[in-house]
Amino acid sequence: MATIVDCPTCGAKVEWTEKNKYRPFCSERCKQIDLGAWAEEKYAIPAVNLPQESDQDKPLQ
Ligand SMILES: [Zn+2]
Repeated sequence: MATIVDCPTCGAKVEWTEKNKYRPFCSERCKQIDLGAWAEEKYAIPAVNLPQESDQDKPLQ
């Protein structure tokens, strides 16, 4: 009995088997789309170091 998962990209039912090398995706296309989405998300995050952590370390004067 195979485990059925939803393809993260298109929501199609996918059998979680060793034969399905694209799992949890239904196809290579959906896998590529999802990887592309992750890459875009990564680049969308601005590389700015907000000085929030240092505020807690400062002693109150
Ligand atoms: Zn899919």
